[in-house]
Amino acid sequence: MNKGLILGCIADDFTGATDLANNLVRAGMRVVQTIGVPDAPLAADVDAVVVALKSRTIPAVEAIAQSLEALQWLQAQGAQQIYFKYCSTFDSTPDGNIGPVTEALMDALGCDFTIATPAFPDNGRTVFKGYLFAGNVLLNESGMQNHPLTPMQDANLVRVMQAQTKRPVGLIDYKTVAQGEAAIRERIAALRAEGVGVAVVDATSNADLLLLGPALKDMALVTAGSGVAVGLPANFGLKPSVQASQLPAATGLQAVVSGSCSLATNAQVAHFKATGRPALAINPASLMNGQSDALVQQVLAWAAPHLKDGPVLVYSTATPEAVKQVQAQLGVAEAGALVEDALAAVARGLVDLGVKQLVVAGGETSGACVQALGIAQLQIGPQIDPGVPWCHAPSAAGSVHITLKSGNFGTEDFFTKAFKVLA
Ligand code: ADP
Repeated sequence: MNKGLILGCIADDFTGATDLANNLVRAGMRVVQTIGVPDAPLAADVDAVVVALKSRTIPAVEAIAQSLEALQWLQAQGAQQIYFKYCSTFDSTPDGNIGPVTEALMDALGCDFTIATPAFPDNGRTVFKGYLFAGNVLLNESGMQNHPLTPMQDANLVRVMQAQTKRPVGLIDYKTVAQGEAAIRERIAALRAEGVGVAVVDATSNADLLLLGPALKDMALVTAGSGVAVGLPANFGLKPSVQASQLPAATGLQAVVSGSCSLATNAQVAHFKATGRPALAINPASLMNGQSDALVQQVLAWAAPHLKDGPVLVYSTATPEAVKQVQAQLGVAEAGALVEDALAAVARGLVDLGVKQLVVAGGETSGACVQALGIAQLQIGPQIDPGVPWCHAPSAAGSVHITLKSGNFGTEDFFTKAFKVLA
């Protein structure tokens, strides 16, 4: 059992888990993120573990089963407090999964009260009088009302949560939060006396989250986006420190693998090419008809002689028009899978060639690369840009430093800046 473990976190998706881990590290915790529920005890000595599930949109019964499995593992590692992390846009439907998973965790922990707040003011997500804002507009005017899987047509989180919860849902509003710990605790006591089991909490600034933190000290279960995390480490005597984000010294060769086609990533690819560093585009059409393995070998043969001189870039990143054309030819899912598999094989091949500092761009692309590298746990290190930290991981081909950049994150010079941050 890991004696030092304080916080056990369960995240409902992969990049959301990294986002939470990044906030915890910035607030002073040493954090490991696991891909799914590990089948072995935790090896590292850390303050928090984030178990990354893919449970956001699967059937509620399965999300509950996976979350309870994660809970049991975290408890076995000695976690003193449990944090259920969901999206800052509260992605869910009346069937779940936020409400059902919250209640299942409450039942398992034997706790009769918890909070629910996706507030993450640093990212423009604020909660006021129970209403969630995304930037300057209510959630249901933000585009989220048209989400294909979790359309959010009501910004009132008390109503949204009540629709998926048997326990009565209440509100701790901004006036109470502004008064700090004593007032928040008093409000919690009053809500409990009324039989309320879950309270949505207002927060419009980081200051609100820091006021909320101390009032959550003895709460067995906290449910939130990644924002609430900034106020928790102080409860355990931890404060921001360089040590929290310290990783082993970086060694080995450097490479970037990019499968994201977002605007930001297109600009990052262009910026990298403009520096004159070697870059090779993969054309999805050249992967068709079983040509993928041969192409991967060609890419690796191209990369090998360049690697000793600095980072190389292998990318399928393309403009929206080019992507549409490929998708029309191959089908959306087929094109995606073909490219993901090829880039993952390239990533694995590069690591076999001695690359130990790897930047991966794209959420799905990251999932494929992490799998191909056989990575099960990531130690979270220093932030490169908001939401994107360097990580260190044992992989099937030796340990690597890796960063997983989801599509729209990162400044234009991300692909070169990242290596400077690590140095
Ligand atoms: P993001 O984080 O920007 O959404 P993802 O990696 O999650 O990036 O998604 C990008 C998807 O597009 C992946 O499935 C990837 O395989 C696919 N893809 C990448 N390049 C191309 C391309 N040139 N044509 C068609 N699909 C592509």
